[in-house]
Amino acid sequence: MPIRILEPELVAQIAAGEVVERPASVVKELVENALDAGASRIEVEIEGGGRRRIRVADDGCGIPAAEAPLAFARHATSKLSSPEDLFRITTLGFRGEALAAIAAVARVTCRTRAPQETLGTELRIEGGKILEQHPFARPPGTEIIVEDLFFNTPARLKFLKGEGAERRQIDLWISRYALAYAHVHFILRHNGREVFSLPAAREPRYRLAALYGTELAEALLEVAEEEGTVRVRGWISPPGMDRPDRQELVFFVNGRWVQDRMLPAAILQAYHTLLPSGRYPWAFLWIDVPPEQVDVNVHPAKIEIRFRDPDGIFRAVQRAVHRALRETAPIPVFRSVELPERPLEISSPPTQAFPEIISQTPGEESSPSALPPLRVIGQIQASYIIAEGPDGLYLLDQHAAHERVLYETLSAQRQEGPLPAQPLLQPLLIDVPPEEISLLEENRGLLEDLGFRMEPFGPHTVRLQAVPAILSTEAILSVFQDLLMDLQESRRPMEGTLEARLIRSICKRAAVKAGQVLSLEQMQHLVRALERCHMPWTCPHGRPTVLRFPLGQLARQFGREE
Ligand code: ADP
Ligand code: MG
Repeated sequence: MPIRILEPELVAQIAAGEVVERPASVVKELVENALDAGASRIEVEIEGGGRRRIRVADDGCGIPAAEAPLAFARHATSKLSSPEDLFRITTLGFRGEALAAIAAVARVTCRTRAPQETLGTELRIEGGKILEQHPFARPPGTEIIVEDLFFNTPARLKFLKGEGAERRQIDLWISRYALAYAHVHFILRHNGREVFSLPAAREPRYRLAALYGTELAEALLEVAEEEGTVRVRGWISPPGMDRPDRQELVFFVNGRWVQDRMLPAAILQAYHTLLPSGRYPWAFLWIDVPPEQVDVNVHPAKIEIRFRDPDGIFRAVQRAVHRALRETAPIPVFRSVELPERPLEISSPPTQAFPEIISQTPGEESSPSALPPLRVIGQIQASYIIAEGPDGLYLLDQHAAHERVLYETLSAQRQEGPLPAQPLLQPLLIDVPPEEISLLEENRGLLEDLGFRMEPFGPHTVRLQAVPAILSTEAILSVFQDLLMDLQESRRPMEGTLEARLIRSICKRAAVKAGQVLSLEQMQHLVRALERCHMPWTCPHGRPTVLRFPLGQLARQFGREE
């Protein structure tokens, strides 16, 4: 085939493909336009999962009648004027592509009125062609109706999922923007039925409650930190509350919901040792940086961004979250309720009945963030320590608590130098597969710093000469097994450094076990040591060390007046 310049219509369809992938992208672009227009009320109506009809109406600044056709031209925008503007974007849109892209692949009606004009205008566009425009009476604001999406690009239609799946994507986008812009009244309808109407909220926490339930909103810890020009605000879940995936790690950078790899990593690093492996927290963070520090012009969909100083942002987020955890994380209250794993199904209005036991009013029994002095009462099941605190009854898991104490002790010792080693009177010969011998060799320096001394003894045997001093003889072999596993998995990211993992394994084996009877003095010693920890609430693997039964809760359970 000879080389030809493509027909403009085809060019427009190709370009549209990058912006409008599915109904949710249309909803996203239209809602962004409404937000950019300064709307205080945004109404979204969906039919047939967005394929049949999408209507987004706002009460924003409208488009003057004479400019309305231009809004649908490619690369037409009111949001950029000079080349420098591109490097200090303060609006959600700026590429002037969305309306053109949508109009290229659907039948669009636009009704709009700028407040300074007495009459509005109505415009009809199909497959990129303006069919008609005439005066139209309406209050100030804009209403865009998109029908028969992809009617002229049947190939695209085939890639769409069923109505339910497309609808969930739309709901996700709307709830993200509803969260980010709590002061805007959002209304969502599917097939004529109202899904939600969220009146303007004074602060995002109320929006969180409306979208996720008050239980979650009340449990979250506040993050508020400013570091140089970076501001990190929002909410995160306390230790002891986690979920199976990263879906609720949500970030708004300068008001834009972004998908980024680095930001979740910063959060997970801050939670280091506070989460069980494979579990993730909730985090809703607003990150504000000067607009010139972030490049949003990475992709037409504007979901990915680049930071000018990614390391600085990483540190700011990590520190902000870490500080919130350290200073405000409460000791988990004993509760018998499961939190929702995902936002409440917003299609069915949330009716939730939580057991009365946890229905505390906010502020009441606000948990202390450090462990108070505890009076040890005794031990049950040779596994748990019962203690009394100024504000309730405490239950400690002796093994988890001891692991935490050892972990912080050894980590602090490592800051100073190698861990004390204990030579074995009788060196141990251990059989190891050859490939693991080389792993041990590769990590020799680190292992020695942790107190292990060994040398190869034949092709598949090592001779262990010294071990970390805190290990008892019985624990040596199991630690060695863990060690080999840790080394093999050392390439798995996001589980902390290899050294931290090795230390955790040592602590796990060195800590008192469940089933071990402790004297009162031993228990007191352990509790005192836990009180001195920085992060006393979980063991280094993320399991809780201590649970609190608030006095008020006990009184209520026994039917006492308070
Ligand atoms: P961009 O948002 O990148 O500027 P769009 O194609 O989404 O590009 O919109 C083009 C222009 O149309 C915008 O710059 C804006 O001036 C106008 N516009 C679009 N939607 C609205 C709206 N809801 N209210 C007011 N003006 C709008
Ligand atoms: Mg736009």
